[in-house]
Amino acid sequence: SGIYSSVHQLPDHLKVPTDPDLDIASFVLSQFPNPCVAELKPAFIDSATNQKLTYAQLHRSIQSLAVGLYRLGVRKGDVVFLLSPNSLLYPTICMSIFSIGAVLSPANPINTPLEIGKQVLDCDAKLVISAPKELHKFKRIQVPTIVTSRPSKNNDLISIEELIECGDGDEVPEIKIKQSDTAAILYSSGTTGTSKGVVLTHSNLIATARLVRWYAEGTSSLNDIFLGFIPIFHIYGLGFFGFGLLCCGTTTVLMQIYDFQEMVKAIEVHKVNNIVAVPPVVLGLVKNCKGNSRLSTVRRIGSGAAPLSKEVIEAFRSQFPWVELRQGYGLTESCGAATAFVLDGAEAHPGSCGALFPTLSAKVVDIETGLALAPCKEGELWLKGPPIMKGYFRNEEATNATLDKDGWLKTGDLGYFDENGFLYIVDRIKELIKHNGYQVAPAELEAVLLSHPNILDAAVIPVEDEDSGQIPMAYVVKVSSSQLTEEQVIQFVAAQVAPYKKVRRVEFIDAIPKSAAGKILRKQLISQTQRTIRSK
Ligand code: AMP
Repeated sequence: SGIYSSVHQLPDHLKVPTDPDLDIASFVLSQFPNPCVAELKPAFIDSATNQKLTYAQLHRSIQSLAVGLYRLGVRKGDVVFLLSPNSLLYPTICMSIFSIGAVLSPANPINTPLEIGKQVLDCDAKLVISAPKELHKFKRIQVPTIVTSRPSKNNDLISIEELIECGDGDEVPEIKIKQSDTAAILYSSGTTGTSKGVVLTHSNLIATARLVRWYAEGTSSLNDIFLGFIPIFHIYGLGFFGFGLLCCGTTTVLMQIYDFQEMVKAIEVHKVNNIVAVPPVVLGLVKNCKGNSRLSTVRRIGSGAAPLSKEVIEAFRSQFPWVELRQGYGLTESCGAATAFVLDGAEAHPGSCGALFPTLSAKVVDIETGLALAPCKEGELWLKGPPIMKGYFRNEEATNATLDKDGWLKTGDLGYFDENGFLYIVDRIKELIKHNGYQVAPAELEAVLLSHPNILDAAVIPVEDEDSGQIPMAYVVKVSSSQLTEEQVIQFVAAQVAPYKKVRRVEFIDAIPKSAAGKILRKQLISQTQRTIRSK
């Protein structure tokens, strides 16, 4: 039939909870370790301060903050915008928002005020929670705002810490939440255009939480100490550190942001066993950790969010033979990982993203004919199952273009399953550029470029880059009389977008190649660029 389903079954204790009135917070809290263990075991350790948060403390602070947010007026369905780097408070904030039926919409703290303003407006946020350092980005935003912790300067904004104190010991109000209710709106550009709100329900998050637990059991990671530098505002970090690993009773050493030296230090100090990583981190270890034993406690590394090349995998394995390196694949739209190596196969299939997770089905669809393809044939990957998003927020057109009537998600990724059911992603047919695992939408950069008075037309494409995966490159048609330089274009864009979205190369061109319908012929530009780079 051309439909692939997982070869793995979920064991009984991880079966779908059928109760329609279940929210992700109640589900996760029901999986916490027993009270004796919970009083002692840290759920999180702050890598910078060494401060610990036990499961019992986390449980109490989630409940107190739920009370505090409710008293502040946050109600079921209200969207709460969160702008903060990873911190011990981050998972508490997420879980307390979920527990009162409010909706979490997180963003990258390095985004510009303009980018943040767009998301706050688009998701219709009723409350903003900001790290004190980022507060200045909300000056023009007319939404009630509170801070994560109180800044040292005199400031009368309420803080999350104060809300936790004031709600301490009180009963969380009874709020009826259904699995089908929205829990989070995360932003992704999907297959085309600019950022859109990915609507994830409680049922999507519960599905992912069960899969994270299944992954941790299958990889013998339940007693591991994890390292968490992947940002929780992204589905990869949210799925693991925001709620998934909390169902596993593991300890995570949280890092505010990624820094190579700090990471190596944290591994040594906390005897980390398990690193949740992205390809540039794995490459960094290969390049910068030669011949030293600073990774001796590490047993497992997972890599996702962008492709990890076979060469890097092989170099890593020969350098760190005691570490199991596993690749996984997923999207914001699939609420996290859809495939990974869990039980076996990683050694023999370098370059593959592993097998389908239980509960998921997949198709590989011929781009020309729309027919489902047999193993080893390349086509667009489609996914279906409990973690797949409900749709794009208030955007029926994008939803209908991405989810078909039977619920299949068109991923925009080109790949194939081999005879053993292992997935290989070979290319991206959607517009998306991934820089260090972060999304960069060409359409967004093109809009910025077109706002320049001396630019007539522009197209942005990915260029392969060893360290970061890909960099955005712009083809620009300038006003003929203008003296515009490459450097000026780079600066113009850099002043308006978050640093990871910067255009890093510019080429002037007479006309942007377009189809009869006016669509940019990106593939043509990409292959033309690849040829030029290779011939240099
Ligand atoms: P995001 O929604 O930010 O998680 O981005 C999802 C996209 O990242 C996917 O559609 C892929 O294009 C890419 N991606 C994620 N994991 C992998 C992987 N292991 N190999 C190749 N591409 C990946």
